[in-house]
Amino acid sequence: MSSHTVTSQTHDSMFEAVLARLDVAAKIMGLSEEVAQVLRNPQKEVKVSLPVMMDNGKIQVFEGYRTVHSTHLGPSKGGIRYAMDVNSDEVKALAAWMSFKCAVANLPYGGAKGGIKCDPRAMSVGELERLSRAYASAMKDIFGVNRDIPAPDMGTSGREMAWILDEYNKITGEDSPGVITGKPLAVGGSLGRDAATGRGVMVNTLAALKKMGLKPNQVTAVVQGFGNVGSHAARLLSEQGIQIVGIGDHTASFYNEKGIDIAAALDYVAKNNRVLKGFTGATEIKSDELLISKCDVLVPAALQNVITEENASKIQAKLIVEGANGPTTPEADPILHEKKIICVPDILANSGGVTVSYFEWVQNKAGYYWTEEEVNTKHDLKMEIAFEHVWQNSIQFKTTMRIAAYITALQKIEQGVKLKGAF
Ligand code: GLU
Repeated sequence: MSSHTVTSQTHDSMFEAVLARLDVAAKIMGLSEEVAQVLRNPQKEVKVSLPVMMDNGKIQVFEGYRTVHSTHLGPSKGGIRYAMDVNSDEVKALAAWMSFKCAVANLPYGGAKGGIKCDPRAMSVGELERLSRAYASAMKDIFGVNRDIPAPDMGTSGREMAWILDEYNKITGEDSPGVITGKPLAVGGSLGRDAATGRGVMVNTLAALKKMGLKPNQVTAVVQGFGNVGSHAARLLSEQGIQIVGIGDHTASFYNEKGIDIAAALDYVAKNNRVLKGFTGATEIKSDELLISKCDVLVPAALQNVITEENASKIQAKLIVEGANGPTTPEADPILHEKKIICVPDILANSGGVTVSYFEWVQNKAGYYWTEEEVNTKHDLKMEIAFEHVWQNSIQFKTTMRIAAYITALQKIEQGVKLKGAF
């Protein structure tokens, strides 16, 4: 194992896992200990209780979180997730990743993340609306168009963003669409935002394949996750000529070595409650077989901590492009590295979403809206530049793409911390 990988000590805390990578990158690039210390400590952590009247007439209290990790490069930016495993450690880790992600993509933002511990699938639309409005109200002093700008994440979409925007506007008495991104088009959203994270995965995949001397029509891919990120990634990759041989979501996984008709799968989920269960275009396989099935490109675009020291050695792909946040544990990194699998890390591979969030915010501030082509062209260029920057750093510092992405981010954030100074 080289000094460029994290040791095999297990990290029970997700935030500790972020710090483990930060420490490796800091050592290689010679980051000042002062700056490292600033980044090891999130700027602000807020926990709120959200009492909501449920449909049965009883009040239920939910836990809400928002962590601002850094604001050295601009207002903090990052999504809000609705999931049962939301907790302060996870939100802290995700907030730190947003700081690094925005810096890698060269966006004028710091990083933040929020979440509510709830099971959105088990709640009615009315309950979700009241919960979202309660959260917006509780966070009114945290959010701000030039302060902290949320967006969708797991379990949320444009619908929740519109409720949060409306509640925030009611409280402030001003119409401020740029206070939140990932909104529906009618209330100030941007064309291209929905597909943006998947599009970023596609652009990063093509850039990596080019470096590997491979053409899209020579390779196969498996995509884990068929929600906002995975479904758009699968569609866009297949449009580029990559044969998608495996797909899966939380309900079912499928494999077909002759290729899966992604348009048919998209049509299926649109008509079946947004889930793949029951899809007949491929053979159903066990969910834990999907990541280790035969393919050239693996796109984990669902949950965190799915590539672990248990399954990393069985992965057959040559290239991993991380659509999800934190899909690979630090313990799996050295195993992938030894197997010479190139891994385009989350903070680069899934930064297309926040990049178009930035474009949405710029359009909201200007009050002038771009065509989808303008958005996509600007997005692709930003992603290509970010990929190349990380690739060059991986060569210069003789390290993995993951550590090189941290180095790329830290080089920029270090300037922000030093230039802005301290008390
Ligand atoms: N939740 C997305 C992410 O993890 C998007 C964040 C944003 O657009 O602010 O990158």
